Amino acid sequence: MRKQLVAGNWKMNGSRESVAALTEGLKSGAAELAGKVDVAVFPSSIFVQRVADTLSSGEIAWGVQNICTEEKGAFTGEISISMAKDFGCEMILVGHSERRSLYGETDAEVVTKVRHAGKAGLIPVLCVGETLEEREADKTMEVVARQVQVVLNEIQSEYLEKLVIAYEPVWAIGTGLTASPEQAQEVHAAIRQLLTEHDADMAARTRILYGGSVKGSNAAEIFTGADVDGGLVGGASLDVQDFLTICRAAS
Ligand code: PEP
Repeated sequence: MRKQLVAGNWKMNGSRESVAALTEGLKSGAAELAGKVDVAVFPSSIFVQRVADTLSSGEIAWGVQNICTEEKGAFTGEISISMAKDFGCEMILVGHSERRSLYGETDAEVVTKVRHAGKAGLIPVLCVGETLEEREADKTMEVVARQVQVVLNEIQSEYLEKLVIAYEPVWAIGTGLTASPEQAQEVHAAIRQLLTEHDADMAARTRILYGGSVKGSNAAEIFTGADVDGGLVGGASLDVQDFLTICRAAS
């Protein structure tokens, strides 16, 4: 039985003041969720220490939104996997569609980052998903399968033990549009099938999250799919009450 996971991607939002309020609000609200659902947040890296100071007692995990493909050295502006680990990050977001589309992140770079996270014993949260054009051209599964398969092909199994996959249709991110529960389940089931063909045990344990305009008002419906193991939440994760409602819907 897979434990549901709800993770908040705070993107490039927040100030010292708002991050403190959000983190403290989540900490007080999360007590009722303990043991029922895993909860994580991905603040901007500059706020990781602030988040860690409040959340260090362990109910809510935290991570960074991206890491460098290189392990250390002269890479101005980058953050390494060992730095993330040093700051208590348990999860690393990899291949978010904004990284892929705005910063040209390639499948090869995504593979390297997932490998770094797995090798460090952290949880890579691999984001995959199709654009609207790809969906309309009936290419959803082709795109998603490519994005998942390259990771399965290139990374040895021991580094994929904790892998989490987030299916995020690009057309649903930050747009207010969501995949219907049926559309989400269809893609999640197809991803699970790909995992099964690779390794049945891994398929059974790997959590597949849905992301794309999840809110307190639609979470319960989206989470009904048998292969939907929680959510990756952007905008609504900046609102403590809405995020906690989503967490409750997954519990
Ligand atoms: C995201 O950025 O991963 C995301 C799902 O954003 P939103 O919930 O705002 O669509």
